[in-house]
Amino acid sequence: MNQSANNRMNKISEQGLCAGCGICQSIAGPDKIKVVKSVNGYERPVIIGDLDNDTVEKIFNICPGTRIEGLPTKEITPATRIDKVWGPWLRISRAWAGDPKTRFEGSTGGVLTALAQFLLKDQRVDFILHTKASFKEPTFGERYLSFSEADVLDTGGSRYGPSAPLIDIDKILARGQPFAFIGKPCDIAALRNLAHYDDRVNKLVKYWLTPVCGGFMNPSSIDAFVLRSEVKLENLTSLRYRGQGCPGPTRIETADEVKDLNYLDFWGEDASSWDLPFRCKICPDGIGEAADIAASDTWIGGSPTRESSKNDPGTNAIVARTSVGLELMEAAAKAGAINIEYDITPEDMSAYQPHQMRKKYAAHDRHQGLGDEDQIVPITDRLRISVLADELSESDRQYQREGTRSRVRSGKTTEPTPKEFE
Ligand SMILES: Cc1cc2nc3c(=O)[nH]c(=O)nc-3n(C[C@H](O)[C@H](O)[C@H](O)COP(=O)(O)OP(=O)(O)OC[C@H]3O[C@@H](n4cnc5c(N)ncnc54)[C@H](O)[C@@H]3O)c2cc1C
Ligand code: SF4
Ligand code: SF4
Repeated sequence: MNQSANNRMNKISEQGLCAGCGICQSIAGPDKIKVVKSVNGYERPVIIGDLDNDTVEKIFNICPGTRIEGLPTKEITPATRIDKVWGPWLRISRAWAGDPKTRFEGSTGGVLTALAQFLLKDQRVDFILHTKASFKEPTFGERYLSFSEADVLDTGGSRYGPSAPLIDIDKILARGQPFAFIGKPCDIAALRNLAHYDDRVNKLVKYWLTPVCGGFMNPSSIDAFVLRSEVKLENLTSLRYRGQGCPGPTRIETADEVKDLNYLDFWGEDASSWDLPFRCKICPDGIGEAADIAASDTWIGGSPTRESSKNDPGTNAIVARTSVGLELMEAAAKAGAINIEYDITPEDMSAYQPHQMRKKYAAHDRHQGLGDEDQIVPITDRLRISVLADELSESDRQYQREGTRSRVRSGKTTEPTPKEFE
């Protein structure tokens, strides 16, 4: 057994950098790594076979815990504008799904669902690779292939638990069929990194779509939420985090009852109460810089209020970053698949997403803090995080750096070695 290769692989999880995307299982093979629910409740890579140094090196170059890059330079055109916070963009608009049912079912305004349906209806792709609620673990998401518009509608709504959409990407690429990928920004980063090794990625992935992502929730806090709602975890059959309105109810189901709670009962009243995995706290790209289109909410300040969440039909902000994304957005609007309300600016995005702006400024010094404590420092490129950090005052920079150092020293970033949960 190559213990040093195994130890190096485990460090990604032990140092709190794993985002749970699943791609390392596909790279190493399911006989070597299984990305499954681990003892701490997260999906983590459990080593079950012998790893070699080359495989682990390849994983380090592809894993979004260790490498995150912005939009590939070949996608930047003379018309591309690059906002220092929001990155490359061609057009930013407020929009929602043209079909009222899709708008209702979707997480925000159903735009990602509507675009995916349009791609299938227009026969631009054979299927959509994305995430759906898991039957096995009702609080999790799991990777799903949609071949019809009805399939896509079934996946609407954000999943705030772990999900590993890239767990068998090798098999999906081996189908040789064109497809669209919808994944969180870290999932997009992983698949873009794989493209450096595997030509099939750029040949077959025709569209890259992402929700703007502030992080998912620590699974133990999700379980605590279910218990607080007076439902035993073993009785839980479904947890729908949002959708059916914007954000819609957070719906807990058992065989005997359905409980509708408020989105703010789940997340808390504002961003300061979000219980996120450590990887999400240091995320250098929650805004989907490497996607063709990133879609977000449009609540000023980043959260709904209890009052506004009652009757909001849902309006997305959509950032078209590439010419492929812009063409898709405009063709979908022409066909009535989405309605574009009006165009907006990066400054509007910052008003909707102050937490994303704050994290973008803080990410570089948080990463420096990791280096100070001899932790793995994620490699980043084309995300402007050091340029943004330079705009902060020296005391703010120290605060971010020291904050990370003290988290590491107090063990808050440390996770157990991945081991299958029984
Ligand atoms: C973890 C997470 C964090 C988020 N944080 C923010 C935020 O900081 N700011 C903000 O504005 N919005 C955030 N969102 C919500 C996001 O705004 C909406 O998902 C986005 O606006 C798209 O809305 P929609 O109505 O078009 O989505 P829908 O039409 O409902 O489509 C959602 C799509 O996302 C996929 N999906 C759902 N959950 C996951 C998941 N966990 N991993 C991978 N793919 C998934 C589904 O398969 C589906 O294709 C977050 C979503 C998630 C999943
Ligand atoms: S982020 Fe993805 S590739 Fe990296 S260790 Fe976790 S599951 Fe594996
Ligand atoms: S915040 Fe970053 S690391 Fe966390 S789920 Fe979102 S994109 Fe992935």
